[in-house]
Amino acid sequence: MFITTHAALGALIAEQMPNHPILAFVLGAASHFLSDIIPHGDLNLYKGFVSGSKVKRAIAYVTIDSVVAIFFVLFIFNTKIFDHRLAISMGIAGGVLPDLIVAAYEVFRIKELKFFHRFHFFFHNLISGRRGDLPFASGFAMQLMFLAAIISRIG
Ligand SMILES: [Zn+2]
Repeated sequence: MFITTHAALGALIAEQMPNHPILAFVLGAASHFLSDIIPHGDLNLYKGFVSGSKVKRAIAYVTIDSVVAIFFVLFIFNTKIFDHRLAISMGIAGGVLPDLIVAAYEVFRIKELKFFHRFHFFFHNLISGRRGDLPFASGFAMQLMFLAAIISRIG
């Protein structure tokens, strides 16, 4: 899913345990894998990245997604979240970190990360790999609604 969605979900989970930053981190990370199970329209883009046919498009997508995520985090910390910032930060970090590790493996092929990469895509492709993914536009729209629902509950 969008990095922003993972960040928002991590923040929302962390808010439920404001005095337990480590638990917020762990559950934030768990929420990444579980939410990725929902087909969300980016499997073809990823396949295009791996095959070499859509590398630029995939990099552009991830870059924009990352910048939006940074603005999103700035936004909630300046408008919605004033207490328990450590736990919220840890929840966001846990929510986002799995994709960062996956990206590190994609770019640098660090052997030690291969297991993690497979673990991530086990969840990511659990449904979309077998039954097919959503079209990109539908996945995008679905994620926007999911994101809006999460954001409305933060703060
Ligand atoms: Zn992911």
